[in-house]
Amino acid sequence: MVVMKFGGTSVKDPDAIRRLARIVAREQGISGVPVVVVSAMSGITDQLLDAVAAVERGDADLASQKVTVMRDRHRVAAEALLGPSVERDEVIDLLERQWRETAALLHAMAVLREVSPRSRDAVVAMGELASSHLVAAALTALGTPARCVDAREVLVTSADHGLAQPDLASTAARLHERVRPLVTAGTVVVLGGFIGATASGVTTTLGRGGSDYSASLFGAGLRAAEIQIWTDVDGMLTADPRVVHGARPLPSLSFAEASELAYFGAKVLHPSTIAPAVADGIPVKILNSHRPEVPGTTITAAPPLPEAPLTGLACKRDITVIDIRSTMMLAAYGFMRRVFEVFERYRTSVDVITTSEVSVSITIEDRRAIDDIVRDLSAFAEVGVETEMALLCAVGERLRLEPGLAARVLGALDEFPLRMVSQAGARRNLTVVLPQAHLQAAMARVHERFCLEAEPAGVGA
Ligand code: ADP
Ligand code: ASP
Ligand code: MG
Repeated sequence: MVVMKFGGTSVKDPDAIRRLARIVAREQGISGVPVVVVSAMSGITDQLLDAVAAVERGDADLASQKVTVMRDRHRVAAEALLGPSVERDEVIDLLERQWRETAALLHAMAVLREVSPRSRDAVVAMGELASSHLVAAALTALGTPARCVDAREVLVTSADHGLAQPDLASTAARLHERVRPLVTAGTVVVLGGFIGATASGVTTTLGRGGSDYSASLFGAGLRAAEIQIWTDVDGMLTADPRVVHGARPLPSLSFAEASELAYFGAKVLHPSTIAPAVADGIPVKILNSHRPEVPGTTITAAPPLPEAPLTGLACKRDITVIDIRSTMMLAAYGFMRRVFEVFERYRTSVDVITTSEVSVSITIEDRRAIDDIVRDLSAFAEVGVETEMALLCAVGERLRLEPGLAARVLGALDEFPLRMVSQAGARRNLTVVLPQAHLQAAMARVHERFCLEAEPAGVGA
């Protein structure tokens, strides 16, 4: 069995959902009944978050206008996709009820003037709930019998709202109970990605872009033969196409390379997606729902080495560098623990770390607690903060195998003011931090020299 996940742009309107239905029917003809995971229609999660933000500012009217727009968009799509029938009326009713419930929730939050992570999750989950009902009805109407199963009854998570952690064993048990029998009976099950619930039934979400993660959790729990991530590009590309002109699709990638690229910013794959697949050795494919005939990218444990020296590049903008200096660090133990305790206290995750004798540099993406972090660090060290920095990460198995490659990549960046350079133990990536203004040019330089083809002879000598 195959798990097929369709992202926001692949369910964004009736045409996209018709394409999805053709892709699912084709897969059913090849490998049997698949399980389908869908994101909210593109833009909906942002609009739901905007509605919550409006309520937070006390603007209940704006929130309610936003719900009306979302409700209309789903109704129009349902009417376009489903012919006049009892089923159509039922789905339209169900969606109407759901959007009324969303409006009521937002209204209650406005009255109480209280937005908690828990209530935010309850609202944001509506996007995937609506799309999964719509897609299941559309599949059935277009000739592939399908049924929506509420993902909150399947994906069991911790109560960390906004970034919930899955409970693998309970989720596998629920899949076995609620999804497997339908599949065996020949029904395509459609689940919303990104959403789950605690063991006691409180709605949670997995973090932005988390539908990919849901798909791989379901794939692992069902012991699927393959996890397909259907999106709007031809696979994992050598670099973010919005940053580098001429990025090309990668036919294959190792689990480790894909994880590094996703972790360091390749938005096409949620960074947690690979872990459940690795544990069970399930191949992950990234495919283009606009061009299903394109082979896409296959991610497996040990694919053949690519021709080019580097497999791909990833980047993150709006990075903050924190420099921590103290002579206490010299030959002392326990200093790093004090540093990291501060980041832990404010639940801020750290991306890149470099150290010298008396200083540590750390990058963070989430600036929400920056003032508290700087204050606490200042109690025992000198602290400097630099904003508007970017992180460029070069990834490839060859970095591990060819000793001079990392040095050559750095050599190609000799004109750029690099603030940090890091290569971790696994040595599949080389990460540099530089001012954001230089990112695009630095990406273009490394991409052109190392990602397109084998290096010209003599360069490595
Ligand atoms: P979906 O809605 O299908 O989940 P996303 O917008 O989350 O799609 O991810 C797809 C987008 O990721 C692409 O349109 C592309 O702009 C961006 N992207 C960033 N880095 C890469 C990369 N290395 N390869 C492919 N796409 C990338
Ligand atoms: N709809 C969610 C988001 O926009 C999850 C996803 O698309 O993967 O973040
Ligand atoms: Mg995505």
